Order: sequence, then C-alpha cells, then structure tokens
Amino acid sequence: MRQIIIIGSGPAGYTAAVYAARANLKPLLIASSVEAGGELMNTTEVENFPGFPDGIQGPDLMFKMQAQAEKFGTEVVYDDVVSVELSGDVKTVTLGSGAVHQALAVIFATGSAYRKLGLDDEERLAGHGVSWCATCDGFFFKERVIAVVGGGDSAMEEASFLTRFADKVYVIHRKDNLRASKIMQDRAFANDKIEFIWNSEVVGIQGTETVTGVTLRDTLTGAERPLELQGLFIAIGNDPRVHLVHGQLDLTPDGTIAVAGRSSKTALAGVFAAGDVVDPTYRQAVTAAASGTVAALDAEHYLASLPEDLLAQAGDLELTTTA
Ligand code: NDP
Repeated sequence: MRQIIIIGSGPAGYTAAVYAARANLKPLLIASSVEAGGELMNTTEVENFPGFPDGIQGPDLMFKMQAQAEKFGTEVVYDDVVSVELSGDVKTVTLGSGAVHQALAVIFATGSAYRKLGLDDEERLAGHGVSWCATCDGFFFKERVIAVVGGGDSAMEEASFLTRFADKVYVIHRKDNLRASKIMQDRAFANDKIEFIWNSEVVGIQGTETVTGVTLRDTLTGAERPLELQGLFIAIGNDPRVHLVHGQLDLTPDGTIAVAGRSSKTALAGVFAAGDVVDPTYRQAVTAAASGTVAALDAEHYLASLPEDLLAQAGDLELTTTA
C-alpha cells in the first residue's frame, strides 16, 4: 500500500507530486495512457508561466515538471484509472491494465475535457475535419479554409496558430464580443488570414468522408446559411473530468469537485482535489500548479494525523494485481 496516489499528470498533478515526493511520501502518479501531460501537451508557446521570460513550449514545460517530480522519487505509471473506491481509511484505485493500487490518501488532478457542440455529425467527422486540437491536427490543413468555434483564449490561440497552415481561418462566435484576453484578441484581429463571423453558431456539419462545410445560424435573426470549409476546430471550453467520482464526492453547481474553502479537502477524509477539476474560473497552468501544492500540503497534514499502525501499512510499495 502507498501513502499517496495522485491521479492526473497536468500542472496540478505534477506539482502535487513534487511536493509529496519532497515530503518523502513516495507518491505514485497515474498519468493517462494517451493524454499524459494534460492540456499543455496540446499547446504551443506558453508565455505566462513565471520563470520563462522567453516562453516555453507546453510539452517542454510538462516534461520538465515530470522530470522534477521523478527526481524526488515520484513513480509515474502510464495507464487510465477505471474506478476508485474512496470511502474508508484505505483508498483503492483500479487501472485499465487490471492493476489495483491502494493508498491512504488520493489527490484528484484529473483536469478537464474538451467541450463538444453536441451536433450529430461532430463525432462522425471527428478526425476527418473536426478537431479539438490545432497543434495536433493543424498540419493537415495546409492551404485550406477552416474555422474555429469559440470566443475565448483557446479559440484565439488556435486561430492564430492555424494561420501557419491554412489560407483562411474563420472565427465563429455566438456573440459580438470576445471573452478572450485583450492581448490574444489583438493578435487575432491583426492577423489578416483571420476573419470573424459574429453572432453565429454552427448548427450543422456537412461532409460524407471529410468535412466540406457547416451550417451557420445567426443568433440574432435565426437565419441560416452555408459556409464552405474543410476543417472545423472546436474551442468552446472544457468540462471538469469527474466521471470517476460520481456518487462518491460532492460536486459544485459548476460540475467541479467540491472542496472546503481554499483547501483541497473533499467531503471524504483522505481525498483531495486540485487543478481544473476544482476550478471553474481561473484555469491557468500556474493556478493549477498552485492548487497542486495546496493538495500535497493538505494530504501531508492528513497523513501526519493518522495512527501509526495505519501508516505502517503504507510502507509496502508493492502493488497487487487482479487477474
Ligand atoms: P472559455 O470558457 O474562456 O471560453 C469558451 C468560449 O466558447 C466562450 O467564448 C463561449 O462563448 C464559447 N462557447 C461555450 N460554449 C459554446 C457553445 N456550446 N457553442 C458556441 N460557443 C460556445 O474557454 P477557453 O478554453 O477559451 O479558456 C479556458 C481558460 O483557459 C481561460 O481561463 C483562458 O484564459 C485559459 N487559456 C489561456 C491561454 C493563454 O493564456 N495562453 C490559452 C488558452 C486558454 P461565450 O463567450 O458566449 O460564453
């Protein structure tokens, strides 16, 4: 049994791991089998993480965080958590491989998942012109006409990035003003490959094998019109990944895991949460990292309060594996 298991490998998870490992808690961190490193793995230049005045590529930042966590003794497993049992003193975490891990404390740093438009053809054409990741798929749209849906920082970042490949990038936004930060807006406005389509939402996606166009609906008049394009990038925000804890932990009206005040403490003793999965508001790499720190410190204090005999059981780092 472990002292602590951290689920998630974004800035919150790795920062929690750095702190927990330096506290000699020998954390086990479960990174995803396919999305290890979290959302920053899909980002290009990160310009607002303190300490990198010239910016740093998102994946580089994550590799550095992982290296730092491992340097102090974190063990990283690339697998997906399929279920958790959180009640009681000993928590159980089961992985896709069938491995079962137990610990006295668990930190959830599971982040958030791309939001979908909810259109019938969105799933069918995913990977065939519909994408949620410009850095992953932008290369396939050289000299094409594409669109980005959304009005936040993600949409501006994706649109600006996609102009490296595409001939034209529409930004389709349901309002006539952007939620994105001023600097990101200005960058997009100054880019002559980007054209904004205001007060419009995508209500249909066309294409048999790949995307050939979309249907736009004017949010003011309700009028619909077709728009020809070959790619549709959806950047309309994210939803916290809470499927593992449904029925076990309380959620907020925003859908995030509920924690007590400024702490990372969930309703269950020994269970902590950090990063985007608790934060509907700020959702920055640096705030997630800070939140991971809070969770590791809370977990450390919790573990220090446990009876000696229970802590002694956590000395054995061997994992048990089911069939
Ligand atoms: P946001 O929630 O900030 O923005 C989502 C955008 O999508 C909004 O404009 C919203 O419209 C629109 N939207 C939401 N749902 C729908 C829908 N169903 N149909 C059409 N449009 C929809 O998400 P982001 O992913 O842009 O950003 C999340 C966080 O990450 C923010 O804190 C942001 O600052 C940060 N971030 C920072 C970056 C950086 O600094 N480099 C880069 C990327 C993200 P409406 O405005 O009408 O609500």
